[in-house]
Amino acid sequence: MRPWADWHAERGARLHRFVNEQLYPYSPFYRRLFDEQKVDPRSIRSVDDLRRIPFTTKHDIAPTADNPSRHLEIVLQPDMEKLRKFAPKGVLARLLLTRMLHDGETAREEVRREYGPVHVIFTTGRSAQPTQFVYSPIDFERLHLVGRRIAHVGGIEGSMRSLNVFPFAPHLAFWQTYAVGQSVPSLFVHTGGGKVLGTAGNVGALARMQPDVLIGVPGFVYHMLRQAASEGVKLTNLRKVALGGERVPLGLRAKLGELCAQMDAPDIRVQSVLGFTEARHCWAECVPPDHATSYGFHTYPDLEIFECVDPETDEPVGPGERGELVYTALEGRGSCVIRYKTGDIADTGITYDPCPGCGRIVPRVSSTLSRRSDVGEFQLTKIRGTLVDLNNFLPVMSSFDEVVEWQVIVRKKDGEALGLDEIVLSIALRDGADPETVKRKVVAKLLAEMEVAPNVIEVLPLERLTENLGLDTQMKELRIRDLRGARA
Ligand SMILES: [Zn+2]
Repeated sequence: MRPWADWHAERGARLHRFVNEQLYPYSPFYRRLFDEQKVDPRSIRSVDDLRRIPFTTKHDIAPTADNPSRHLEIVLQPDMEKLRKFAPKGVLARLLLTRMLHDGETAREEVRREYGPVHVIFTTGRSAQPTQFVYSPIDFERLHLVGRRIAHVGGIEGSMRSLNVFPFAPHLAFWQTYAVGQSVPSLFVHTGGGKVLGTAGNVGALARMQPDVLIGVPGFVYHMLRQAASEGVKLTNLRKVALGGERVPLGLRAKLGELCAQMDAPDIRVQSVLGFTEARHCWAECVPPDHATSYGFHTYPDLEIFECVDPETDEPVGPGERGELVYTALEGRGSCVIRYKTGDIADTGITYDPCPGCGRIVPRVSSTLSRRSDVGEFQLTKIRGTLVDLNNFLPVMSSFDEVVEWQVIVRKKDGEALGLDEIVLSIALRDGADPETVKRKVVAKLLAEMEVAPNVIEVLPLERLTENLGLDTQMKELRIRDLRGARA
């Protein structure tokens, strides 16, 4: 196994090459950034030098009304003239030789094979316009390379069969999953999720296929397994549930384990996968021993640098300390970012010691993530004097055994634009649970953990709440909704 000191020097060299041979010459955004900040790209030689480069945020690259194609400024855009000036000698010699032996068109084809866009995914954020990220053929190959690593870390083998219920969409989660299956190679059936086949279609596929692995968004997978259990489906092969696309609260893992046990799959492992569009690939957790343990997401030291910084001061935090994840690509064509502030806060940061589960020595990112409230998906103004991050409803609400489903809506009281903010929590309860007792428990825990209580808690029938959540009709479940800006 490679010692870390080695990696540190190697990564500095990779960073230097990437900045000088790709980003500075061909990325309009980063060339401007380096010039404006008077950072000489040649002086970026070690991982520590990264700190001299300003952060990139989603607001720097998302398209706006004034600049609808701003996202293209982070796409590497070489032309023959720039290549002649900046390409490493070997690459240049190959291109010139191609031009001599063949013609200009063949040389241009070569460049297209390396840099030309062949695939696009979009962000799904609510706080900025969807931003597109481009892959060149080389990037798409890397998505497969990463797919193989995810399979190794996550314990997916060629002989297993997987059912993928991520929605068909130009989103990272679906395409990364596709690449895992292709690269192992292993049989993956892609149903397209609730919107394509409905809950019934997905439960039917689960019952017929009897997969070893079930893959999808936490909310929909939970809903679908609940439905399967209520129909008396038996899962004779199921060994793993892999979740991505949304945060996975610890409480949900135990609930999924219990559901599967009811269906004759007593020993499943629930594993989550981290991904963000800006990195264009994902990271898996290795197989945990139980539903309460996670060894963190295993990152790829040869492909990227993760930093963890104090969300208030932007200063780096130590190993294992809470902070915001910052991502730097060390390779890539198409849309590339460095020092990208992800807005994800890792509760126990990044650790560098060998993984207790698999022994791999790679930086591991804490799997307990929260959103940074001021750049997060939802920004909440003060409610009764408290700033509330609505995303925190997720771990709290998932921790109640009696609550089968839930939804949070923030709206203006009585629908008046200038009215007070009001939080409405809808819940569906397990059979036999006493509504008043559960309501009291929920309020107490929300007050203790979030310093906020809903103004209204309504108990709804499960079918009605499932419908409100849009599990069969929406690309993304309507778990937490802020309707205050919405016109009636
Ligand atoms: Zn591991």
